[in-house]
Amino acid sequence: MYVAGAVVSTIRSHAERESPRECCGLLLGTAREVREAVATANVAAEPARQYQVSPADHFALIARCREASAQGAEPVEIIGVYHSHPRSAPVPSPTDRREALPDFLYIIVGPVGGSEPIALRAYRLIEGEFEEIAVSH
Ligand SMILES: [Zn+2]
Repeated sequence: MYVAGAVVSTIRSHAERESPRECCGLLLGTAREVREAVATANVAAEPARQYQVSPADHFALIARCREASAQGAEPVEIIGVYHSHPRSAPVPSPTDRREALPDFLYIIVGPVGGSEPIALRAYRLIEGEFEEIAVSH
């Protein structure tokens, strides 16, 4: 999966901005490429420990994608979601696994504020388990 460098920096800076809360957003692109990361509000009850993409932001983005393809732009869809683990490695939690949808790409970044740059990993649910997807920039 190709993830544009601008997408990686958008996700990292969103994670830094929201820390110690988890940030989240949606990924736009095609089957092979993440083209854009769109920040959304995290409406989870406990945003320091979980994330939930704002349904209003999600619907607005669906409308934007439809409008773009109606105007003849190359079709781009919502292909996945990203979120941050402010204090831990970018490894899916049991909750992440439980709530994951098949065919969606999951990008996780973390931890935030350490001496190392924030790590980014991508996963897809395959037969009920997350498998890490190789990412190139
Ligand atoms: Zn998580």
